[in-house]
Amino acid sequence: MRLLVVEDDPQIADGLSRALRRNGHVVDVLDRGLSADITLGTQDFDVVILDLGLPDMDGIDVLRRLRGREKRTPVLVLTARDELADRVRGLDLGADDYMVKPFEMDELEARIRAIARRAHAGSGGDLVVGKLCMKLAQRRILVDDAPVEFSPREFAVLEILLLRRGRVVSKAQLQEQLCAWDSALTDGAIELYVHRVRRKLEFSDVTIRTVRGFGYLLENNGHSGDA
Ligand code: CA
Repeated sequence: MRLLVVEDDPQIADGLSRALRRNGHVVDVLDRGLSADITLGTQDFDVVILDLGLPDMDGIDVLRRLRGREKRTPVLVLTARDELADRVRGLDLGADDYMVKPFEMDELEARIRAIARRAHAGSGGDLVVGKLCMKLAQRRILVDDAPVEFSPREFAVLEILLLRRGRVVSKAQLQEQLCAWDSALTDGAIELYVHRVRRKLEFSDVTIRTVRGFGYLLENNGHSGDA
């Protein structure tokens, strides 16, 4: 998943982004409310982890402005214990969940997965389409109940397509979701990853169709409405 961490405490931001990257996420970090507001106006993330006490624009205002633009981007609010009143206000303004510092990394990750799933795929557990099952918590992929090996990048490509199944995903969107700001992927590299993922799905009933000029579409063969 592509995550944005907005946190002005460098130690927390660093620990958080390292742990999330270790678990295969693409993570960008901002330490100011204003830059978060500008970024969220132009870019999409699967989940935003938002501190409330920020320099130059409060996290609450970042959230209010995000929702004011009618963006449903899932937001997990991080607060200090003495910001309790703000925390409740934050949920009223459309935060999907909150955690009080200090927090356990495992719990934070579980909650990130939960709100991303709620936002994208209803309330179910794993992402299942036909014979394909992506186990988000264990980062495993099963085809017909048999595990298939995916590299972290291949896993990420399939995750993006699965979370948006039934919709065409452009190369630019894949690029944006796969890379933090300090890195880039060529179109050729994206084509290569899609090719590899396709090969690994050969024996499933799921295909990734190229929609010429637009991008890729994940489909469940024979079930146009999918699972
Ligand atoms: Ca802070």
